Amino acid sequence: MSSLVSYTHFVNGAHTAPAGGRSAPVFLPMTGEIQARVDLASRAEVDAAVALAAQAQPAWAAQNPQKRARVLMRFLELARRDNEALALLLAREHGKTIADAKGDIQRGLEVVEFAIGIPHLLKGEYTDSAGPGIDLYSMRQPLGVVAGITPFNFPAMIPLWKAAPAIACGNAFILKPSERDPGVPLRLAELFLEAGLPPGIFNVVNGDKEAVDALLDNPTVKAIGFVGSTAIAQYIYGRGTAAGKRVQCFGGAKNHMIIMPDADLDQTVDALIGAGYGSAGERCMAISVAVPVGEATAEALMDKLIPRVRALKIGPSTDPEADFGPLVTREAVDRVTAAVAQGVAEGADLVVDGRDFSLQGYENGFYMGGCLFDRVTPAMAIYREEIFGPVLSVVRAADYEQALRLPNEHAYGNGVAIFTRDGDAARDFAARVEVGMVGINVPIPVPLAYFTFGGWKRSGFGDLNQHGPDAVRFYTKTKTVTSRWPSGIRDGAEFVIPTMR
Ligand code: NAD
Repeated sequence: MSSLVSYTHFVNGAHTAPAGGRSAPVFLPMTGEIQARVDLASRAEVDAAVALAAQAQPAWAAQNPQKRARVLMRFLELARRDNEALALLLAREHGKTIADAKGDIQRGLEVVEFAIGIPHLLKGEYTDSAGPGIDLYSMRQPLGVVAGITPFNFPAMIPLWKAAPAIACGNAFILKPSERDPGVPLRLAELFLEAGLPPGIFNVVNGDKEAVDALLDNPTVKAIGFVGSTAIAQYIYGRGTAAGKRVQCFGGAKNHMIIMPDADLDQTVDALIGAGYGSAGERCMAISVAVPVGEATAEALMDKLIPRVRALKIGPSTDPEADFGPLVTREAVDRVTAAVAQGVAEGADLVVDGRDFSLQGYENGFYMGGCLFDRVTPAMAIYREEIFGPVLSVVRAADYEQALRLPNEHAYGNGVAIFTRDGDAARDFAARVEVGMVGINVPIPVPLAYFTFGGWKRSGFGDLNQHGPDAVRFYTKTKTVTSRWPSGIRDGAEFVIPTMR
């Protein structure tokens, strides 16, 4: 008999019984062992969860927004109470360090904090006497049942970015998290229930393409928010919008850091090493391309960067001294290793090669050392494609205009940074760069919860960003009421379009 943990789904306030269908392994990336199995929902299981959510949603929407906010307040307390356990669970399934896992949770909780402002955020517009005896007002109403499909790399943050605003607006939410690390999403569901959220309002359906397709095809699901790789983002956007749903999809990235000749190089290298290799580069806002401007900047940068990459400390997720831990799966290590080999074959200069890294006592873990490429060119696949591992490419630019063209002409447009002491250059860069999120001497410019998060070009599909005021727009529909009481009705029948005379 196996001692593996068995994950099912969380529907209508309870874990479901095992259905005996397909399942997938959940690894312990630190050691390479399988630690759990997760059930992969069938279409029928997804449809059943959606039907139960639809039954629960009207009563939740009918609660006043302050009461809904109080549930989120209580959830925050519980998530803080359980912070250590959540971070350990997250680190053990994802592979990131515990300190980094705490950041993952914290950035999710900040959106819960934002969503607590829902009584204010949901206020509509009102115009008194817009015409003779006529008042005009608008209200924002929930969509009904909405779904979130999320990636492995932020198993707390991204589910909360979607669920907190959706629930606060009065929707019922179905989360289809990554099948690689479902433990934290299921725990969040238990905490929401403990916080007083009625059963059926936050549900977790584990699964793969079959579960996603079931959500895309189910007419009761009115909106889908997706985060993951670009090919899947585009697929979900196309199929979801064709079915008449509201869809926002956030995809992959290739984030550049432009390093101007006047930048403080010690600060820049500190920022670059953390942003390039933190979380083993498995962040959509990781810096994967450094662009020093001018040969002297490039030489000075490489002199400082190479020893730092060689000195990176890679350890198990539970090691408080580790800079980063293992990758999520063996498959991920193989994919990243193959990308590095391709870079070498394309003629890039691999100045630090971490492919043979092995951690004593953890030989079967999914580890990889940091890799650093110099003299990468825009024609190379390692430049064009997202690698999503601890690999940094240096593309040398002759001048600022050439450096600016790199992110502008890249297919992705998620994040970008410039390091400089020159305010004029920074201002020009922020105005002209074709990327959704810009850092000025800030390497990972993830906007705070009360702003919105979203990339451009092939990093984002749809009109509205995640969290902040856009989330309230995404998870509600606007109704506008034009009202006149009988005493204000003076005219007889009207056959021309009404105007405010
Ligand atoms: P992924 O695209 O493999 O998976 C994302 C989700 O889609 C998962 O829930 C998965 O089960 C589902 N999925 C996978 N294949 C599918 C298919 N064929 N049909 C339908 N659904 C499918 O992404 P991942 O590996 O979990 O995450 C890493 C990716 O996410 C990277 O590309 C990263 O840049 C991106 N990401 C983007 C952002 C952002 O905000 N732009 C944030 C985090 C991660």
